[in-house]
Amino acid sequence: MVLLEAAREPLGKVRISGGGRCNVTHACFDPAVLVQHYPRGHKALRGPFSRFQPRDTVAWFRRRGVTLKTEADGRMFPTTDDSATIVNCLVRAAADAGVQVETGAAVTAVSQDAQGFAVQLRAGGTLRGDRLLLATGSSPQGYRIAQSLGHTLAPPVPSLFTFNVPEPALRELAGVSVEPAQVTVKLPNQKPGQKPLSQTGPLLITHWGLSGPAVLKLSAWGARVLHDCGYRAIAQINWLPTQSPDSLRQILQQTKDDWGKRVIRAAAPPEISLPRRLWDYLGDRAQVPPDQRWADLSKIQLHRLLQELTQSQHAVAGKGVFKDEFVTCGGVSLPEVDFKTMSSRVCPGLYLAGEILDIDGITGGFNFQSAWTTGWLAGRAIATLADS
Ligand SMILES: Cc1cc2nc3c(=O)[nH]c(=O)nc-3n(C[C@H](O)[C@H](O)[C@H](O)COP(=O)(O)OP(=O)(O)OC[C@H]3O[C@@H](n4cnc5c(N)ncnc54)[C@H](O)[C@@H]3O)c2cc1C
Repeated sequence: MVLLEAAREPLGKVRISGGGRCNVTHACFDPAVLVQHYPRGHKALRGPFSRFQPRDTVAWFRRRGVTLKTEADGRMFPTTDDSATIVNCLVRAAADAGVQVETGAAVTAVSQDAQGFAVQLRAGGTLRGDRLLLATGSSPQGYRIAQSLGHTLAPPVPSLFTFNVPEPALRELAGVSVEPAQVTVKLPNQKPGQKPLSQTGPLLITHWGLSGPAVLKLSAWGARVLHDCGYRAIAQINWLPTQSPDSLRQILQQTKDDWGKRVIRAAAPPEISLPRRLWDYLGDRAQVPPDQRWADLSKIQLHRLLQELTQSQHAVAGKGVFKDEFVTCGGVSLPEVDFKTMSSRVCPGLYLAGEILDIDGITGGFNFQSAWTTGWLAGRAIATLADS
């Protein structure tokens, strides 16, 4: 078996993944729950995850001397916190399985005739074989090869990105995080009756705008609609989603009565757990002057403060990069693949695995898990044929 890799080293993405630590998988061991983390591919992955899921990934690496640990949010990393551990393990496993790894071997085209596949290399020369696994990730060349062999593509667009919010006062709060916040995206072309995208989770303010798990999840679930509107939308934030607007109104009213002489923007009431700088910023947006006292808070100001706390609106003007992980939404159309073996339904002898498929997950190790699972299934199916 030959593995053709265009780059000079294999597993380049594994090496840079998870900020250099490689978030190998996620501690989610129920296939029915696991599939809910995939905006694209959840139905197709149900069967594959019943055969190879995160528990199997953990065991696979453990058998090869690599132990994974689980962080508080469920992400799993090698105990070394070094992606090289994973790269070295995979390279060794390939060698042990007798796989010949050819690096610097970019494939430019693949054709099929009665004798099987003819694989053309950029450096010149053609390799022949009767089975071919296409696992080229999000490479445009890989997509073209899949199309040339009869497959159709869901158009590839980015997933897992941050929101660019060109609002200087917000950006001055870079580093402030709130957990949890609820972010709801309103699209300019939102259809009447269409449920808005909404996620609750940790939210991080950055030098570019908004990031953190809540935004990354939104970017995944909304990857295609956000692309279609040019990444221009309104992000509406409820900074205190665990408190009802009514209870917040009462807290503000009570604070007005109790703290009459105190300056409003100097500190939030103790029941409102927000970073001080954020409270001050929201007060400014609510048009509360910096030195105004609680006793002078008008009804309209109280209402505006409540609005800012529970539904502040921020114009998103583009997408930013989340450097720890990104992935492509779109790829080879899933009904064209048999998910028992990862074999192509349109091109006999062809197998597909990983990101080339129209499958992607939210951040947290789910993208590698779908690549491990589909790669494992394809490998087994090919090996079984080889043995028979
Ligand atoms: C910065 C970054 C960090 C990430 N971190 C994480 C993480 O921590 N956890 C997680 O779950 N996911 C992470 N991901 C996503 C994850 O890396 C991908 O989902 C996963 O690598 C997909 O695996 P794959 O084998 O399908 O594709 P790839 O890993 O992209 O591998 C495809 C390989 O095919 C080669 N290739 C492409 N075209 C050709 C050709 N024509 N000829 C020969 N070779 C070719 C490429 O050089 C590449 O080595 C991250 C992604 C990025 C970009």
